[in-house]
Amino acid sequence: MNALRRIALAQVPSMAIDEVVMIENSSILQDEVIAHRLGLTPLKTDLDSYNLPEECECQSEFGCPLCRVTLTMDAESTEGTRTVYSGELVSENPDIIPVSDKVPIIKLAKGQKLKLEAYARLGKGKNHAKWQPVAVCAYKYYPKIEVPSKECKDCSECVDICPKKVYTMKENKVEVRDLLACNLCMDCVEACPQKPPAIKVEWEKNAFILNIESSGALPPERIIQEATNMLDKQLAEFTKQVKAEVK
Ligand SMILES: [Zn+2]
Repeated sequence: MNALRRIALAQVPSMAIDEVVMIENSSILQDEVIAHRLGLTPLKTDLDSYNLPEECECQSEFGCPLCRVTLTMDAESTEGTRTVYSGELVSENPDIIPVSDKVPIIKLAKGQKLKLEAYARLGKGKNHAKWQPVAVCAYKYYPKIEVPSKECKDCSECVDICPKKVYTMKENKVEVRDLLACNLCMDCVEACPQKPPAIKVEWEKNAFILNIESSGALPPERIIQEATNMLDKQLAEFTKQVKAEVK
């Protein structure tokens, strides 16, 4: 599980702006700051149509239509101050656009202009966080709780102490209200006045709860599928190398 989590964070590729050519910038922000903001704007990613530049056949530092997407922006404030949002980026590929068109890029005062060309490419989170397809990726054990009605005296000590409010009293009986909220802190087991404790808290041997929040670049299912495929490949490679060493 941890290998999958780390691959999802650091190795599943996603699209992000990597280079920006400033044509005109009369705003108060430096070119670098704007480029940084553009880089961190999540872009919808199409993993099936694009190559990682290092694996692309073109092997060109400027990229080709299979490993690079050009986005342009031509913003100007003609009256008063206005905010320029990510929605004003125009992409050459309508599938590779910002996940949200409401990411503020810059504020322009009257008469100020921002004109630029940006190049997006696939990359990996291990090289820069802007290529990380997930915001949150964490897992925990799947809890297994037993409240045997025979041993439990229904004193409600465990109900009161549980910080995650896993238990509830129903008709004077202790009941599990929200199993998945349990983080296995074992406070309930320690609070139980019975010796040995009536309540039993364990975890499933082959089940986990994975909490994954995509940046919007790829659907969470796709991120896990890609991570699984990569782990498979890496394990196969590992097996091969172990054999080679034994000879
Ligand atoms: Zn290429």
